[in-house]
Amino acid sequence: MKKALILDLDNTIYPVSSIQGNLFGEIFNLIDVADHLTEQVKLDAKDELTRRPYHLVANKYNFGDALKDKGNDLLKEIAYELPMQPFDDYAQIRSSPLIKFLVTTGFTKLQWSKVKMLDIEQDFAEIHIVDPELSTQTKKDVFADILKRHHLSTSEVLVIGDDPESEIRAATELGIETFLYDPENKHPEASVTFKSFSLKEVLDVLY
Ligand SMILES: [Mg+2]
Repeated sequence: MKKALILDLDNTIYPVSSIQGNLFGEIFNLIDVADHLTEQVKLDAKDELTRRPYHLVANKYNFGDALKDKGNDLLKEIAYELPMQPFDDYAQIRSSPLIKFLVTTGFTKLQWSKVKMLDIEQDFAEIHIVDPELSTQTKKDVFADILKRHHLSTSEVLVIGDDPESEIRAATELGIETFLYDPENKHPEASVTFKSFSLKEVLDVLY
């Protein structure tokens, strides 16, 4: 019997594509004028930035220290202050009586601004921003800490996310069941407990 849900934020509660035009403009401009990156690398890096944390993308595509620092300086000061909408299905998750935790990776100021604009703060018992700029703590560390402090066994928790390499992996390593929300079937091979195109199917696997 599940007692708690741990949710990711980006592309799990709302689609990053809905804000990326406003959010990524400046950082995309920086990448576009970087002479040391090929056009293909620029395209791939920009695409991946809409799905994965900046520091991972910067490392993967060899941004180098100068570009990496410039992007960091830009992103750590950004807040998103335009209206945002959760996925329609999120309403069903929100109304679930289970205790809910939000654990998201990214820049502290930006992630908090999204929480405010989505108006979801009251849905969660705790909200944790894993900010690689500020701490070496990982999602796995945060999950383990939540279970310990709330006296939850691994079988009482379900982790919900969109990234097999991030929250899904962290949960799997801890022995927690996972629900991969994959509306575009981007990860057909991912090793997960449950998987769906629809977020509200989370409720079907709980009871
Ligand atoms: Mg995500």
